[in-house]
Amino acid sequence: MAYYWNKKGNTNRYKRIDVRYMQRKNLLNVGLSSSLEWISQRTGKVVGRVDYEVRHDSVCFKYTVRSNPSEAWRPYNYLVPITHTSCNYGGTRAWFNCPHCLKRVAVLYIDEQIACRTCHKLNYSSQQQTKGTWQERDRMNKVREKLGWPLIKDVSFWERIKPKGMHWKTFEKLCQEHDLYERRFLVFFSAGLDMSIH
Ligand SMILES: [Zn+2]
Repeated sequence: MAYYWNKKGNTNRYKRIDVRYMQRKNLLNVGLSSSLEWISQRTGKVVGRVDYEVRHDSVCFKYTVRSNPSEAWRPYNYLVPITHTSCNYGGTRAWFNCPHCLKRVAVLYIDEQIACRTCHKLNYSSQQQTKGTWQERDRMNKVREKLGWPLIKDVSFWERIKPKGMHWKTFEKLCQEHDLYERRFLVFFSAGLDMSIH
């Protein structure tokens, strides 16, 4: 059984997933089903585990969480996109895209959710800020769904395609709506970035 648990009062609140480590140890081969374990340095016991499956351009993490033994386990399923950049000396380097902000990162952190450091901080800082950020992102994604555009990545210029059968007027209106929400999302999100530096 996959499990992950976040003991109260544990100073090591987040478990880290480092894409560089996974690449070095050949844990990112497409088709691989495996798991990652975290072992307490103090007791030597396994304190967390997530199962994962490597797909063509993403990793699907599966785990369950509870904050204390009397709670029922809550199952989580996270699809994390993977991108590759080429290195100066040949070969490629793998990156995660944070499932929340899409930013390219080497390390993701897990508690209830899998996200980059900034998104985790954002989540525990100003509620107003957080609400605004995710609200705009959800609005943006709703428009993207209507347009059939990708949800968990930046939409490139050539991906801004009009769905078959949609009127140009409707398409243009949806594009405008999309750009507005996307801009607002980025403004909220970068305000969060500033905040997390201090
Ligand atoms: Zn993020």
